[in-house]
This record gives sequence, C-alpha cells and structure tokens, in this order.
Amino acid sequence: MRLNKYIAQAGIASRRKADELTQQGKVKVNGMIMKEMGYDVAEGDVVEVNGQTIRKDAKKVYIMLNKPIGYITSTEDERSRPTVMTLVNDIEERVFPIGRLDYNTSGMLLMTNDGELAYKLTHPKHHVYKTYRARVSGQLSNEKIYKLRNGVDIGGFVTSKAIVNVIKQAERSAIVEIKIFEGKNRQVRKMFAAVGNKVLELERVAIGELYLGHLRQGHYRKLTAKEIEYLK
Ligand code: URA
Repeated sequence: MRLNKYIAQAGIASRRKADELTQQGKVKVNGMIMKEMGYDVAEGDVVEVNGQTIRKDAKKVYIMLNKPIGYITSTEDERSRPTVMTLVNDIEERVFPIGRLDYNTSGMLLMTNDGELAYKLTHPKHHVYKTYRARVSGQLSNEKIYKLRNGVDIGGFVTSKAIVNVIKQAERSAIVEIKIFEGKNRQVRKMFAAVGNKVLELERVAIGELYLGHLRQGHYRKLTAKEIEYLK
C-alpha cells in the first residue's frame, strides 16, 4: 500500500498531509527516514510519523511454527518452491515470518502480523539469543570451540560471542548446540565452515526463552499471552 494511504488509513493525517510530512523527513520506515512518497509499504514494515509508530488496528496474531526442511521463509518464491505460508493457510489473518530460516533448516519460526514486534526481534541490538542444534561433519577440537565462542570471520563480518556446547562427539560427526544473537544470512553454516566443519543438519530449537518443545514438524500453535508478553 502506498505510504500516504497507509498513514491516512491509520488516522494520522490526510494523504496530502502525509506527503508533506514525508517530504519534510518526518516519516521513517524501519527506522530510516523515507522521503519517497510513492514508497510501497510492505507487510512487516514499521512506519513512524513524527517519532510515533503507526498502529494499524488489525487483530494481532502470534504463532510458532515448526518449519520442516524444504520450505522457504518468505511469502512468495519466484522459483515456485513451497513457502511456509502454505503451512499456516488456515489462519484468517495474514501473518508473515519473523526473520529467516534457510530452505534446508528446520525448527522454530515465529510468524505474526505485528510489524513492530517483527522489527524488534530481528534487530541485533535487542540481543535475543537464537538456539540452534547442528549436526556437523568431523571433530570439534577445543581450539575450534574457543574460536566459535569468541568470534569467527564469516566473510567481512566477525561474529560476536556465542554460547557453544558439544552435545555428542562421534567419530565422524558431532552434535552441537549453539546460541547466537545476530542473524546474518546462513550464519551458523558459515561459522562452522570458518573452522572447517560442514553443517549436515540444522534445527532452530529456541528463540530467547521460547522453546519448540514437542511441537511437531509442519505444525504450528498460537503463542500464549505470557509468551507474547515475554517477546515484547
Ligand atoms: N544459520 C544458518 O546458517 N541457517 C539458518 O537457517 C539459520 C541460522
């Protein structure tokens, strides 16, 4: 939806006034000043006018999905691969994924129509740890674990401190639990690659203190009021 219509529908100003505010640099989208009057507001965008976040009055829905591998975490795919939207198509409100999981990663994906919460959770400054369980090739020496914990270069970006625990070391592979709070593209895979191990399987088991628990793959549930409160 065009930015001025979006602002007008929220009851903040007329469309013309909304255009004026935009030209004056008083409108921000996702924390950045937006001067493009024709900007098309996307689902999940957080729009602010004069420092106030616009609240649309759609009923807010918050769900936890256990994503199987073989699904992409966007609302559409130009290559026609299945998207996670097909797993939640019996929800009346149009929810969207918070952040991303790779096509080959399974596990917890939060979905909502609350753009503000989505923005908060995907911003590294909020330090929400995401916990992954990875099966990786080869052995993980103490030196590698030390590096993973203290930061590795994943191509122009050095990762921050991570919590890393080896759950099981077999002859040719290891099961590792890793907690990170950044969300760089393919970060966990790149971190292990940086120390010479390939990720063979990857599952996100928790976001902050929210755990997948017994939620089966391909299934979802609504978050409880307490869980929503915790995330906010
Ligand atoms: N890190 C990855 O490498 N992949 C994911 O899907 C999530 C985190």
